[in-house]
Amino acid sequence: MRRLLVAGWLAAHVVAGASCRVDPTVPAPIPAPAEPLRPEAVRGSIPEDARVTDWTIAARLDGETHRVEATARLRWTNRGPAVVSQIPFHLYLNAFRAADTAWLREGLRAGRTSGIDPAHAWGYTDVTAIEQVPAPDAEPVALSYAERDEPTLMDVQLLGPVAPGQTVDLRLTFESQLPAVYARTGFAGEFQLVGQWLPKPAVLRGDGTWADDPLTFHSEFFSDFGRFEVTLDVPARHTVGATGTRVESHVDGDRRVETYRADMVHHFAWASGPDLVVWETEHDGIVIRQLLPPDAVADAPLHHEALAATLDSMQARFGPYPWSTITVVHPPAGAGDAGGMEYPTLFTTSRRRALPAWAVGLGFDDRFSGAFVTVHEFGHQYFQGMLASNEYAEPWLDEGMNTTANVLAYLDRYADEADPWIVKIAGQPLSLLDGLRVQQRFAEDLEAVDQDAAAFDPTVGGYGPTVYRKTAATMLTLRALAGPEAFDAALRGYTETWRFRHPTGDDLIAALVDGLGAEVIVSEPGPDGHVVTLDVREYLQAALGTADSVDFDVRHAGNRPRVSSAGWHRDAAGDLVDAGPLHLTPVDDRPDDDIEGFAVVHRTGGLVVPVEIDAHFADGTTDRVTWDAAARHVTLTWPGRRLQRVTIDPAGVVFLEQRRYDNTAFVPGVEVPRRLEAAGGDLIEALALAILAGVGP
Ligand SMILES: [Zn+2]
Repeated sequence: MRRLLVAGWLAAHVVAGASCRVDPTVPAPIPAPAEPLRPEAVRGSIPEDARVTDWTIAARLDGETHRVEATARLRWTNRGPAVVSQIPFHLYLNAFRAADTAWLREGLRAGRTSGIDPAHAWGYTDVTAIEQVPAPDAEPVALSYAERDEPTLMDVQLLGPVAPGQTVDLRLTFESQLPAVYARTGFAGEFQLVGQWLPKPAVLRGDGTWADDPLTFHSEFFSDFGRFEVTLDVPARHTVGATGTRVESHVDGDRRVETYRADMVHHFAWASGPDLVVWETEHDGIVIRQLLPPDAVADAPLHHEALAATLDSMQARFGPYPWSTITVVHPPAGAGDAGGMEYPTLFTTSRRRALPAWAVGLGFDDRFSGAFVTVHEFGHQYFQGMLASNEYAEPWLDEGMNTTANVLAYLDRYADEADPWIVKIAGQPLSLLDGLRVQQRFAEDLEAVDQDAAAFDPTVGGYGPTVYRKTAATMLTLRALAGPEAFDAALRGYTETWRFRHPTGDDLIAALVDGLGAEVIVSEPGPDGHVVTLDVREYLQAALGTADSVDFDVRHAGNRPRVSSAGWHRDAAGDLVDAGPLHLTPVDDRPDDDIEGFAVVHRTGGLVVPVEIDAHFADGTTDRVTWDAAARHVTLTWPGRRLQRVTIDPAGVVFLEQRRYDNTAFVPGVEVPRRLEAAGGDLIEALALAILAGVGP
């Protein structure tokens, strides 16, 4: 799901390119791929035991009532270690059914009512029959089933016990009513985004227990992989976009009937509506199918470019994209609340916002207005589409790791720039990494990352900063400390091992410790050969498992007399000898040999992260020290060197740090340079903060 990452927020709402646009010509259609998966030689092998579900569905959309009537055959295989005699199902759409569902209750309490149309607020999935076919040629037998008090869950009693390895054959009949579009699901006018509309079996975990959590305000979804063959029957004037590849399409009277196939996906979502322009392109053999309202067609090349760059980055980093298609739905006017949501091989994006010419004249600029949502939602094809972590139990594994991947995608896209800018504010560039650093400033709401979605109270607002951005800051800080190559290889180890699986946070931490080693060296050896190290597991557990933050400041920076031997000392014979008078000459009047530069640096945050400290001296020389930050403060001295300035984390790689504006201190009396960037980017941050504080995210 999309959240207010500062970069995306800035790009989407504050600044956007305003160059005039010419509607490009719609490219010729590309034949739909015959298979939903790319050839094995390209996409790699698929673990057969990851396939749990096999769906055949026929669904009919009533364009007037926005209701979908469906029958489904589901073959479900017990891949768990235990015998089961009942299966819990998710009925996610029931979250929209009443004001007191776990999901809507929290949303209403938190005042998140924008987009709700009270006349069409309710959505639901009503299961009208479930049967089991006990043997291949046998007649189906009706099963008993019941919703729980929390109606996003229902329990289905099977005819008998199902042993590990056995498959049950179920028939379901259900109706799914869509609400007016709200929270990324529903209809607007004749358009509908049909998201979580299916009754879906819960995941049977490796320990034999069910992951049968209700849908709560922040939680998303969790399901097993499988096959889908879905026939959609919609009004003839509709255009359809869906998970997988279209294998058949025809018009029958006033109805359009299309069949889609998908494989190794954990959900099937679709969109349907009139007057949608289909813009098809290809990248690396993958068909990119964009569905756009006519007034957004000019944005199609921008989204293609953003998606292609993200595909390149993620395939290189995390392994091949396995599917043959990706569908991008641009919600039409009135359906904006459907934007920014990910489903397997289909996601919704958002509009490019044009910036008024006066703002461009004032030095505002941006690089990817609107496209950031495409980068983020495509990223979910990996971080949750393939690495199908439990979004209820560990939302950071998909949203936070995806945000990390989004940053890496931008670094790859603009690899010829050290820190690519994303927006310019009054001519001052703000980079994606600046955006992350700035975000840590909004730290009052930061909580422990590693909590389940329901633990984050929507009225507090800590979910986005914590789950999305603190996770990304944690990972990118580790990447900077351990070295990008080592970190990237370790993360690649995780994505390769856990493709088409349900990894947990412990699995990710284990993969990073395995790839990086238990300890990484984060400094050059000192004169005594000493190096500063970071315990990878300890760091990750503290950064993800506690609400502790990282913060440093310079308490003192100055020059002081060197300790002299003036006064009386005993000589070898035991007699007192005068070594000279005490001089209280001001430091400024002493020769350099007689003084020492010194700085006292404090760690004010509870989280321990090693940090570099740069000292700049009057003679133009510099010194760099790496401090392990284990103690609360350190006093650094430079005998015989006249200090001018001290900067903590000069490279700005501790993305977790909350306040960077106190990281630089000038020795009293030293003239502070006027250039903005002189203070290591802190003033840019202050400027960005001022703008953000003025507008409010
Ligand atoms: Zn997301």
